[in-house]
Parts: sequence; C-alpha cells; structure tokens
Amino acid sequence: MTDIRMGVVGVAGRMGRALVREIVAADGAVLAGGIERSGSDHIGRDIGELAGVGTLGIEAVDNGQALCAASDVVLDFSSPASTVALAKQAARAGIVHVIGTTGLSEDDIAQLTEAAREAVIVRAANMSVGVNLLLELTREVASRLGPDFDIEIAEMHHRMKVDAPSGTALALGEAAAQGRGINLSEVSERGRDGITGARKRGDIGFAVLRGGTVAGDHTVIFAGDDERIELTHKAADRAIFARGAVRAGLWGAGKPAGHYTMADVLGFNRS
Ligand code: NAD
Repeated sequence: MTDIRMGVVGVAGRMGRALVREIVAADGAVLAGGIERSGSDHIGRDIGELAGVGTLGIEAVDNGQALCAASDVVLDFSSPASTVALAKQAARAGIVHVIGTTGLSEDDIAQLTEAAREAVIVRAANMSVGVNLLLELTREVASRLGPDFDIEIAEMHHRMKVDAPSGTALALGEAAAQGRGINLSEVSERGRDGITGARKRGDIGFAVLRGGTVAGDHTVIFAGDDERIELTHKAADRAIFARGAVRAGLWGAGKPAGHYTMADVLGFNRS
C-alpha cells in the first residue's frame, strides 16, 4: 500500500513540531508539508529543522489550499479560526482533516459538522489513548454512583496555554453529565470565588491550574460522604497526542464522510 501523505497545520507550534517527529517515524505515513500563519517568522524555514529531526527539504508555507492538494490527511493543532478555514479547504479537496485544536465555539463546531458532510473529520479535545479510556471510565462511574457523589474536575497545563478549562476537562465534564443523563451546560460550575454559598447538588465543578511545562494533567473526583474516588491521567510528553493524531489520520483515510471522534478510531464506540 502507498504511504498516506500527511500535512501539518501550525507546523512551528508545540504540537506541530511533535506531529512532524511522529509522521517521520510512522509506518505507512509520509510528510507532505506544513503551514504556518501568514506573517510568521517561521515561513520558509525547513520543517524538519523546526522539529529537530534534521533537514527534510520541506519549507513551512502559508497556503492551506496547496497543503490540501498535496495531502491525503491534514493534522491540525492550531487555532479555532484557522481550523474552521482549513476544514472548508479540506472538504473541497476531499481529504481527511484530523482536528486537535481546542477552544472551538458552538458556531465553529457547527461549521466543522457542515464540512464533515463532504469529507472525513476526526476531532478530539485529547488524542491520547489513556484520556479516551478515562472518558469511558468517567461516564461509567458517573452512571453507577448517582448524584450523592459530587463531581469535580481538576486540570493543570503549561504556562502558555490560552484556553480554560482545557478541552479535555470539558470533555470529561460532558462524559460525567452523559453518565448521569443530564446536560453539562445546566450544571457546570466554572469559577468559584468569594462567598459562593454551599455547593449546589448535582453541579459539575471545574478547577484550573497553570504553570511550568506541564503537558496536561486531569483528575475527575467523585466525592461522597466519607469516601472519594479519583481518576487521574498525566501526560508526560505531547508525543502521545501526536501519536494519536497520526493513528487517527491512518484510520480516517478511505472512510466515508463524517464527523468522527477518537472513540471511533480506538473502537470504544459500541453503538
Ligand atoms: P502553539 O501556539 O504552540 O501552536 C499553534 C500553532 O498554530 C502556532 O505556531 C501558530 O502560529 C499556528 N497557527 C495559528 N494560526 C494559523 C493559521 N491560520 N495557519 C497555520 N498555522 C496557524 O499551540 P499548541 O500547544 O501546539 O496547541 C495548539 C492547539 O492544540 C491548542 O488548541 C491546544 O489546546 C490543542 N491541543 C490539543 C491536544 C489534543 O490531543 N487534542 C493536545 C495538545 C494541544
């Protein structure tokens, strides 16, 4: 079988560089190119050198359409605006768009769903195998324990992260709400400060820490009377997300158009 050509969006970013390293090392995939935002100092730089894997003879450019034309799959960990724009180009080109970008609005997601009518989109706030299992466990534990157990979700990330709570923390909140058969938007408690009053029964709370170079820690706490269950995942290196994205790209190649998740890629979706 011929190798799947993979392009990288946001190729000079922390995840972009990790994606280049994974694609170069992966069986069945070949690096097709990489784009950066117009005006970036990294345009024209060799993307292998940016990623620390030596010169590859491929320069970072700022043309999404050209990247889509040269790729079977684009891996995109960039910004909401660039992801929505790229989804339209990827859909027109009929290629797979793997999206790790977080901080997407409801309107952004609606536009991605529209693009997924024409082509494959695989989107997950967290592409690691471990976190996707944590989502399953959270749903299961929430459904078994019921509202006598208060649910709190704590996350910590590096000092440069721009959105909060993390997309993964929100996905864990969604999983807990699904397990309880309720709507997260009706019970979400995202910022406690001052005299807040007692905790409201059934709320799902979020706590956010930022600092250092932490790649991503998440804990879901189920706090009952006199006992507590804590489910924790700690990412030691962002290579785990890049590995998951490459796996999603290989999985998505040849699939029918649709808006898929990592649970589909990993075979966790039983329905
Ligand atoms: P980063 O800021 O280091 O990298 C983002 C890159 O995208 C930058 O180099 C930026 O210049 C580039 N970019 C912005 N607009 C662009 C455009 N129009 N065209 C091309 N490139 C553009 O950030 P990061 O830490 O690499 O994270 C990127 C995103 O991925 C964030 O939303 C983050 O939350 C998310 N993330 C997701 C996962 C996951 O598993 N799903 C894991 C880690 C990070």
